[in-house]
Amino acid sequence: MSDLVQDDLKYVWHPCSQMQEYVEHFPPLPIVRGHGSYLVTEDGREILDIISSWWCNLLGHCNPEISEALAEQAKTLEHVIFANFTHPWAVELCRKLKELLPEGLCHFNFADNGSSAVEMSLKLAFQYQQQIGECRRIRFACLTDGYHGETIGALAVGSMDLYTRLFKPMLMDALQVPAPDCFNCPYGKKRGSCSCECLEQAEKFFKEYGECLCALICEPLLQGAGGMRIYPEAYLRGLRRLCTEYGVLLICDEIATGFGRTGEMFASLKAKICPDLMCLSKALTAGYLPMSIVAATEKVYKAFYAPLDDPKIKGFVHSHTYAGNPLGCVCALTMLKILERDEILKKAKDKARFLTGLLEEKLKDFAEIGEIRHLGLIHAMPLVKDKESRKPLDPKLKTGYRLYQCALSHNLLLRNIGDLFYFNPPLNIDEADLEKAVDITVRSLKEVLAHKA
Ligand SMILES: *Cc1c(COP(=O)(O)O)cnc(C)c1O
Repeated sequence: MSDLVQDDLKYVWHPCSQMQEYVEHFPPLPIVRGHGSYLVTEDGREILDIISSWWCNLLGHCNPEISEALAEQAKTLEHVIFANFTHPWAVELCRKLKELLPEGLCHFNFADNGSSAVEMSLKLAFQYQQQIGECRRIRFACLTDGYHGETIGALAVGSMDLYTRLFKPMLMDALQVPAPDCFNCPYGKKRGSCSCECLEQAEKFFKEYGECLCALICEPLLQGAGGMRIYPEAYLRGLRRLCTEYGVLLICDEIATGFGRTGEMFASLKAKICPDLMCLSKALTAGYLPMSIVAATEKVYKAFYAPLDDPKIKGFVHSHTYAGNPLGCVCALTMLKILERDEILKKAKDKARFLTGLLEEKLKDFAEIGEIRHLGLIHAMPLVKDKESRKPLDPKLKTGYRLYQCALSHNLLLRNIGDLFYFNPPLNIDEADLEKAVDITVRSLKEVLAHKA
């Protein structure tokens, strides 16, 4: 074990981890460099990062253009207080986002990570309802199996037991709408050929709680951390319609889906809806720096707009120290410039088709692959007993986790969520690397599934 790893185990407490596992069985991999889709270890192994380092690295590690722009910016202006001050890079970024986002989102409030953006959107929604006189609207709704971050407010509108159960007594009591489940559809329908029968549950929910709801928050089209659950555009449109009908704000958490991940620039655009509030982070800075933004409509913005001493209408008294950080803004601007100039989204669509075809071909003989579901370049494969019954594997076997470890031993960084594994590569990955990722996956599956019992 290298000195670096030894010291790591002595000092560092890693995210989302049982440290005993690190110390006793599976020490962290020391990474010293990155380039394109690859991470390079201390001892020179090249690891193919097919998950964009937790979904944020949009255009490859150490993208030369972004790195260069960041270095220049660091010599020009690294940070400035964003209350009563402004700077060209934040203004330009907002102008650009307004062009790209669904029409209607036109005011931008900065924070510094995804969870903070979610918290901000909840507070904005709450204050909005108070200030337009809808004082009884104090409850929040979310979808089951949703994920919106780890801070207390974000956790409260998440509904995955894994993250929330222990903390329940600390959390506000959000209401849950049963999310669509297209893999095990309770209506017996097949993915892509239903009429969103499950929307009736949301209708019923709104009938019951619509009057007391402040906002509904959801991950549009893709519930990421909840298991890469992909659901139909029509369902999202249904939620939009219900929110409008009942005077409830719709918050789209596009932290994972924004900036081309779903094949379109934003999942909301793909579904042709405009939320009242939208949360952006992760790919926003192409994975360079923590930054997040909440985009709001004119209607929401107006509800906060009044003279300083207005007795009823207050501004939004909420701040984060690093709000509007110029370094983050420059990364975002450079990322957007590259997306546009190099037609990255158009090319990513071809790559997505290529990857889908490849996975379908190479995984077709594995009875344990329940389905290959995909949205943009995101591809997710649940592991099951057999694809006909779709019954889950015995969780005690930790098959997904073992697949993750096995692939990593072959220099592929994929990730599992329970017994599901997924790819979420940078949009500019090349086809050779996609092929390599699939080949290593096949090899790892053979090894792991052979030693199942
Ligand atoms: C990652 C994620 C978050 C949380 O973002 P952090 O920067 O990790 O706080 C919130 N919502 C969604 C949909 C995410 O994928």
